[in-house]
Amino acid sequence: MQLVKAGQLLNPNVCFICEEFKQEGTPVVDTLRNYELGNHFTPLAGRKYVCESCVVELGACVGLASADRIEQLEKDNVTYRAKIAELKKKLSTFAKELTAVST
Ligand SMILES: [Zn+2]
Repeated sequence: MQLVKAGQLLNPNVCFICEEFKQEGTPVVDTLRNYELGNHFTPLAGRKYVCESCVVELGACVGLASADRIEQLEKDNVTYRAKIAELKKKLSTFAKELTAVST
């Protein structure tokens, strides 16, 4: 499989899942596989592509996060690590003050 941009896709030039045409430049996954039914006609015959929104939905079904969600989680991680460091510093100061008072 490979990531390609809509615009010069092979027929049927739609997402195999949602069956929607995608605007030129939209990222889609080219499965590098073809859908053929012998002599039976189907508008989906030809190259199988999967659009980004369908990839995100499929990924969510198996517990995968979107790139946007991962980016947000990474930002949250930085924020929370800073808060933890701040709380550890306060706790250390409090422990020193408590030791000084109790001795
Ligand atoms: Zn789709």
